[in-house]
Amino acid sequence: MICLQGKVICGGTAFGTAYISDRKTQGENKTELQDKATELKKLDIAISSVKQELTNSIKSAENAAEKDIFEVHRMMLEDEDFSDFLHAAVNNDGLSAQTAIKNAEQYFSQMFKDTKDDYMIARIDDIRDVCARLTAFLNGEKTSLNQKGPAVLVSEELLPSDLINFGTKNIIGIVISSGAVYSHVSILIRELGIPAVICEDISDIKSGTEILVNGDNGTVILEPDNKTLCEFKHIKSTHTESKVPNFNKLPCTVYVNIGDIKEISDELFNRCDGIGLFRTEYLYVGKSTLPSEEEQFSIYKELLIKANGKNVTVRTFDIGSDKSCEALPLKKEENPALGIRGLRVYSLYPEVFKIQIKALLRAAVYGNLSIMYPMVTSLEEIEEIHSIISDVAEELKSKGVPYKMPIKGAMIETPAAALLSDEIAKAVDFLSLGTNDLTQYTLALDREYGDLEKFSDKNFKAVISLIKIATENAHKNGIKIGICGELASNAEFSDTWIKLGIDYLSVLPSVL
Ligand code: PEP
Ligand code: MG
Repeated sequence: MICLQGKVICGGTAFGTAYISDRKTQGENKTELQDKATELKKLDIAISSVKQELTNSIKSAENAAEKDIFEVHRMMLEDEDFSDFLHAAVNNDGLSAQTAIKNAEQYFSQMFKDTKDDYMIARIDDIRDVCARLTAFLNGEKTSLNQKGPAVLVSEELLPSDLINFGTKNIIGIVISSGAVYSHVSILIRELGIPAVICEDISDIKSGTEILVNGDNGTVILEPDNKTLCEFKHIKSTHTESKVPNFNKLPCTVYVNIGDIKEISDELFNRCDGIGLFRTEYLYVGKSTLPSEEEQFSIYKELLIKANGKNVTVRTFDIGSDKSCEALPLKKEENPALGIRGLRVYSLYPEVFKIQIKALLRAAVYGNLSIMYPMVTSLEEIEEIHSIISDVAEELKSKGVPYKMPIKGAMIETPAAALLSDEIAKAVDFLSLGTNDLTQYTLALDREYGDLEKFSDKNFKAVISLIKIATENAHKNGIKIGICGELASNAEFSDTWIKLGIDYLSVLPSVL
């Protein structure tokens, strides 16, 4: 039994086998180029083994959707063009089996993209998956969590898109060796309620190691003994018993933050006052195609109907920095957090933003919708967005499409927005404090880089000064202000927010 001590990302406990995902090196060629005949043999063995692996997965698939995916992947491996390409790359070009696979992935992805056909474009993920399986086989790795039973995901680093790509269904716990508590992936993990810990040294964890993650105290125990497992089972049962709080009505307005409609059950909707932050970028992150207007419309509509009159605040997509979207490529930047992210992306891709606004305005008919914009730094940016919203409304009106104007808000997550909150407040209906970014930009602390946490001011004095300014300006202009960043979930500060006159908090479902 080995006990590792780490930093908590998300509370709760989990016990299962470790699944190692080395994001940095996955898919890399890890073998030397051998002679042509050996490379061809390696390629053929990889193809037939992965085909067998997929046949087994088809047989044990839990539902039709899963079965369909594995069938499509097997069909790709059986495709003559795909197989000819791989063999020609080794035979004629003298490449290794792995390089041939990498080239095939690029070639067919581009070919599918060039068709401009939505169905074919959606197949890019499939070709990647198949190629990742082949490469992983040659490297002796596993690629995706299609194993039966729960697994604890162990990785050096993790991005929001990785988590989405893995599929969260089978992940019962997470251990990563680098990361920060306020990073987007950590927030996503908390939203999903997966017990998770950051442990600097994960070298003792191997694939298949039995692992116990205790997100309540930050310990990770490898191969726990019976006594430890009994204690774990006891903690687990007390957790389950105390999950539902014994009050029906909360003493103040408390919303929840979500990143996916599946995160909010009817039971959760009953206990909270609504949604204070729906991070819509997760409809784009980790996907090779953009969500269509219809797809978005049906998600927003479903959420509003589920909310049954309660407030639903949708944040327009916040892509950039660590949240990348393949279909919205952005230039590689030295300091992406200070670059093109949030509403800055809208001017690069105005049509994509308009599609989201159209879907939102149409869905607004079904309930009480608020929308808000990320990364505001000036009044002019809001005026520009509002002019786009007016154009979209005009277009819907002229076509006779039913729509409603949502309540409009600005996120205060840059010091500039807090300092200009008086004029910003005059242009919107509410303000929402994104304290994760407000902290990052006020204290000059990269939220993705955990090592900087020791330099942060644990009392958030400077951040609270900006919150005070924004709150006074919101109230002076007769509008409400809430906090949707992680500080809202930190009970140590509840008194501070009440004293400042914060109107609402929006917290993680797990801390509601
Ligand atoms: C914030 O910055 O506090 C916020 C709520 O937005 P995100 O964490 O998604 O950047
Ligand atoms: Mg933010």
